[in-house]
Amino acid sequence: SFTIAGFDEELASAMRSEEQRQEDHIELIASENYASPRVMEAQGSVLTNKYAEGYPGKRYYGGCEFVDIAENLAIERVKKLFGAGYANVQPHSGSQANQAVYMALLQPGDTILGMDLSEGGHLTHGAKVNFSGKLFNAVHYGLDRDSGEIDYERMAELAREHKPKMLIGGFSAYSRVVDWKRMREIADEVGAWFMVDMAHIAGLVAAGVYPNPVPHAHVVTSTTHKTLRGPRGGIILASGEDESLVKKFQSLVFPGCQGGPLMHVIAAKAVAFKEALEPAFRDYQQRVVDNARAMAEVLMERGYKVVSGGSDNHLFLIDLIDKDITGKDAEAALGRANITVNKNTVPGEPRSPFVTSGLRIGTPACTTRGFTEDDCRELAGLICDVLDNMGDSSVEQRVKESALALCRKYPVYG
Ligand code: PLP
Repeated sequence: SFTIAGFDEELASAMRSEEQRQEDHIELIASENYASPRVMEAQGSVLTNKYAEGYPGKRYYGGCEFVDIAENLAIERVKKLFGAGYANVQPHSGSQANQAVYMALLQPGDTILGMDLSEGGHLTHGAKVNFSGKLFNAVHYGLDRDSGEIDYERMAELAREHKPKMLIGGFSAYSRVVDWKRMREIADEVGAWFMVDMAHIAGLVAAGVYPNPVPHAHVVTSTTHKTLRGPRGGIILASGEDESLVKKFQSLVFPGCQGGPLMHVIAAKAVAFKEALEPAFRDYQQRVVDNARAMAEVLMERGYKVVSGGSDNHLFLIDLIDKDITGKDAEAALGRANITVNKNTVPGEPRSPFVTSGLRIGTPACTTRGFTEDDCRELAGLICDVLDNMGDSSVEQRVKESALALCRKYPVYG
């Protein structure tokens, strides 16, 4: 037999269980989504067999004529999607896209200014444990304590004080709209490159429900698997007006940071970008935003603090400091009720990153399976029921039954 099940029952069983888990649990991890069967078809295709070091028309291997078509389709579609003059679709991940951009524009020891990890930034924006914090001198901006929104005044002060070579916009846990124009002005004032990592919001941007950073930044990176709903992977975009910049990005992806591109993933990116160009994708992203806003409203009505007081995108953070519930315990309790979330640090976090005092909630995945605003209001109420009754297994059991009923109503892959 050529199936996994006929060859490796141990693995096949784990894969079936994961499939069932995805069907039976409400996924609220803000960075996750369900790729379409078409995207998965491309990823499971013979394109995985092909070595294609180099770029379309300029490969180091023979036999690339068909994968060239796939890569060119991905490039043309993503440029159209984001109004970019230049695109590189080869980065294996969001982290590798960022790595290539840093290597293209910075020297080891240079100063970078990015959002603090504990305030909503990403590891690759200069966290100490990451290559970006080891190779570069990382300085961090964060949120205004009162408003919970990005403190641009402080960002500008830090830029004047530290003269970074690069200002980094973008986040993994921030629920508001970022002022790209203002960030570009801050970068220009100190002569810094302005890079935006739009990994979390790329789908919203593609659909026009969140401001596009491409016209403001020197370079934009993203993942393709979060709100954008494609395969796991990364991209780099720019206006393309500066040819020397384009050359740098091209050569720092390959051969600078990577070897052979994953042609099956690039084909899957091409599929996802075509899906994102369809009118239905715009409706989907609008529902993602409406659902997040509705959930944040219910949580606040029920007495929970939402960082920055609401959501304008696909996610928000619940601050549990005043409830004396840890993020770790809340994540576990909701998990027992078939609701998957991740614990998250919150502004002014008193606990360690392994415990935390907050939860991050995102709506991209549940909206893909069909949840409406009413469903999301019900879901937010269920979350409150669990958090109001921490340690009460009968409440967890009742919520689990409601969560399962919602899952049955909206199968992921039918
Ligand atoms: N950039 C941001 C803002 C992210 O949130 C993430 C993922 O969580 C990444 C980059 C990294 O992407 P990947 O996991 O593909 O390396």
